[in-house]
Amino acid sequence: MTKSRENMIADIKQNVLRTRQYIGKDKLSLRVIAAMQNVPREQFVPSEEKILAYADTPLAIGHKQTISQPFIVALMTDLLELNADDTVLEIGTGSGYQTAVLSLLARKVYSVEVIRALAVSAKKRLQKLNYNNIEIRTGNGHDGWPEHAPYDAIIVTAAAASIPPALIEQLKPGGKMVIPVGLPYQHQELFLITKDERNEIESRYILSVVFVPLVQGNPPEN
Ligand code: SAH
Repeated sequence: MTKSRENMIADIKQNVLRTRQYIGKDKLSLRVIAAMQNVPREQFVPSEEKILAYADTPLAIGHKQTISQPFIVALMTDLLELNADDTVLEIGTGSGYQTAVLSLLARKVYSVEVIRALAVSAKKRLQKLNYNNIEIRTGNGHDGWPEHAPYDAIIVTAAAASIPPALIEQLKPGGKMVIPVGLPYQHQELFLITKDERNEIESRYILSVVFVPLVQGNPPEN
């Protein structure tokens, strides 16, 4: 590996400083940094990408999908302000890397992935690495995962054309959601959505991002 996990953390901190005027802070919480320090990212990327595992960049994970850039994983996690007893819903399991980071900061993580092969391999990988507070299912994240709702926090790791109403419904009063919104491979914006105790919704623009699209239906390969 050309870069170490410590290099990755240093790059994340630098990116936080670089974007401070957008994200409204100049450091991430120590709990989030500790979680990023703990998860072995090299276990979540294909062998030919391992050399780049700690570069602060997204990497291909097959099926035309990517593992997100470490800075974006850290930032989205930080925005959720998780407590140790929180229940989290993730849409877009992908490699399971973001899922692993969340699992260190919350009581339980439910994750929905639309591509069955990715859901199956993420599940195996997370079990092997002993992440025991995660459940993954194959499905369309537009519907959320109603059986375990409401959630203290929801994170969407693919860009939606608009915010799926089911996700707003499944958020607890006082809960937070981070979601990239925009058209496929065009300008997308990361939003922090909060639902207050009276169920009123507020959304705050954080910064411009690039994510793979949140697909509408089932991909043909399922
Ligand atoms: N969090 C992942 C990032 C994966 S990229 C990681 O750390 O590796 C986004 C993922 O969202 C892809 O795996 C893609 O298949 C999935 N996805 C896209 N549309 C979806 C949908 N409608 N429901 C659930 N997952 C979806």
